[in-house]
Parts: sequence; structure tokens; C-alpha cells
Amino acid sequence: LPAPHPGDLMKFCSSCGGAVSYRVPKDDNRERAICDDCGMVHYRNPLIVVGCVAERDGMVLMCRRAIEPRYGYWTLPAGFMELGETVAGGAARETLEEAKATVELGHLFACVDVVDAGQVHLFYTARLVSDFGAGEETLEAELMSEQDIPWDEIAFQSVEFALRKYFEDRGRNNGVHVHELRRPRY
Ligand code: ZN
Repeated sequence: LPAPHPGDLMKFCSSCGGAVSYRVPKDDNRERAICDDCGMVHYRNPLIVVGCVAERDGMVLMCRRAIEPRYGYWTLPAGFMELGETVAGGAARETLEEAKATVELGHLFACVDVVDAGQVHLFYTARLVSDFGAGEETLEAELMSEQDIPWDEIAFQSVEFALRKYFEDRGRNNGVHVHELRRPRY
């Protein structure tokens, strides 16, 4: 998983470099950054984070973070979706990058609104079909059974939610579990 959305406000126009001020545009209903020079309205919208629970032999693939925030804590392979890819494609790519693992994705099973971070986290089930290892942002990757999950050392609440629902489902497709996090502790 990436760093939380910075949340800091735009100060300068990304088009012309002019200063922006915050006003409600005509026919809009909330404040936007509007360039004082060229008039461009800069919209900001939530970012999508995609990941998966990759299983083999009843164990799931976990990654220990080699980056801040939450350095050293355990997470699922996940990261910001890129332009030009699908949700599923992004989940598979992140798993390859963070855990050097190839997966066959199953179904989308968790959707977490991380409202105050301006993010939506989406998780797929998956089958691990290759070897694995530590990618650039990972200290170590490990297959863990449910009993081995270090619940006190999970990097993010969204990941904890996804893992708990994953084990509750026990391989069944129970649709998408939706959860809202207002002010995540981590
Ligand atoms: Zn401008």
C-alpha cells in the first residue's frame, strides 16, 4: 500500500503556475482550487487503491513494508491504480511488484471507503500460482495461515478488514463487503 493521500491543498496552478484561490465555481456546490490567472478549475477526487488476498494451500500472501508509513508492519499486496489499467489488472500488477508473485484473480470481495484520506481500497481474492519474494517496497513476503496472521502488526485498518472478511468467507463468494473508515488510526 502507498502513503496516504497527502491531503495538502494545491497552491499553484498545474497548467500555468499561477496562484490558486478556493471558491465555489458557478453552478458547482463545493470549493475548488481556481487559478487566479488562467481560470482553470482544478478538481480533486478520491484515489483508488487495489490489492488482493493471494492464497495457496490455505495460506495467504503477506508483505512486510519496507517503506513509510507503517514501516515494518504487515500488509497485503496493494497500491494505487494506474491510468490505463483495470482494477483487476492493477491488483495483479501490485502483487507482482510488491511480492514478485503471479496470481489468478478471483472475485472482488472488499470495498473500503477511507473517506478522510480521499481513497477507496478494493481487494480481490486470488490464487497464488508462482514463487514469490520481496519486491522493492517489501522487507519480506510470507505465506501465512489464519492463525499466523500478526493482527497487532497489520499496517492499515482497510487491510485488517479485508483479511477478516476473507477468512470469514472461507472461500465462498459472499459478494462485496463494504466498509467505511472515517478517520483511520493507521
Ligand atoms: Zn492557471
